[in-house]
Amino acid sequence: MTNFQKNQGFVRRFSSEAQRESIEYDVVIVGAGPAGLSAAIRLKQLCSEKDVDLSVCVVEKGPEVGAHILSGNVFEPRALDELLPRWKEEEAPVNVPVSSDKFWFLTKDRAFSLPCPFDNRGNYVISLSQLVRWMGIKAEEFGVEIYPGFAASEILYDANDSVVGIGTNDMGIAKDGSKKDTFQRGVELKGRVTLLAEGCRGSLSEKLVKKYKLREKGHAQHQTYALGIKEVWEIDESKHKPWCCSAHIRMAFGSENIWGVISVPYER
Ligand SMILES: Cc1cc2nc3c(=O)[nH]c(=O)nc-3n(C[C@H](O)[C@H](O)[C@H](O)COP(=O)(O)OP(=O)(O)OC[C@H]3O[C@@H](n4cnc5c(N)ncnc54)[C@H](O)[C@@H]3O)c2cc1C
Repeated sequence: MTNFQKNQGFVRRFSSEAQRESIEYDVVIVGAGPAGLSAAIRLKQLCSEKDVDLSVCVVEKGPEVGAHILSGNVFEPRALDELLPRWKEEEAPVNVPVSSDKFWFLTKDRAFSLPCPFDNRGNYVISLSQLVRWMGIKAEEFGVEIYPGFAASEILYDANDSVVGIGTNDMGIAKDGSKKDTFQRGVELKGRVTLLAEGCRGSLSEKLVKKYKLREKGHAQHQTYALGIKEVWEIDESKHKPWCCSAHIRMAFGSENIWGVISVPYER
């Protein structure tokens, strides 16, 4: 039984008690995306290399690992080769190598083929969500405790203002703020090390960046963003080419806007 399960009475306990449970780990990781899970796996690998045992937990706000990771991805496998070199034998869902790239300029009713600036040979077309699920299973095999359905909602500090963990959000609160029958107090997960792997613009990461002035101290560039939309299209099977990535650009006439589309085919 894991530390967390012991503290939660094995199944989630619904109570109205105000006091939060506090659970201690060596490393608390926020976010079960590629970054959080890779870090958790690597830590456990180092533990077995050095014959030490560190408790590592990962909290993920999605109801299951991979639930918040949008599918469709051109994947460069070098990092996976380094982290889990046996990924092919261990049936990672990385099966469709890219064999051609296409680059199109679209007008209202025509498509012009252009020389392609990309070269994705050696890369794969994958569902990142499926890969992350597989990584979650691997992490658990290494002894990482993963808790989906728990969002880290606050940073915990000690008296010296150092980060000592995170607090998960209370659950079972009605829209009017009252506690439902299912109310469950969040928990404190304390770690000797807390690692935030929330993805871009993580809410806790943003707070820490501001609080400790990390951008100024690291002379870091401010983050830049572009608007992106991801859609999943179901297409006629006869048009499905699982190995072909294509990029499209389109200029909206009369304006300076140029937008691009990257199509990544993958199978259900
Ligand atoms: C539209 C789009 C297309 C992309 N296409 C490609 C591509 O083709 N190839 C490629 O290599 N990369 C691609 N990327 C980039 C790739 O998705 C990211 O680099 C990668 O997902 C980053 O991994 P991460 O673990 O840092 O963050 P994420 O993948 O964002 O994972 C963060 C995880 O943390 C969880 N989380 C966040 N906050 C909390 C919290 N407070 N408490 C608990 N859990 C939390 C989230 O639910 C999520 O599961 C694309 C990205 C986008 C947006």
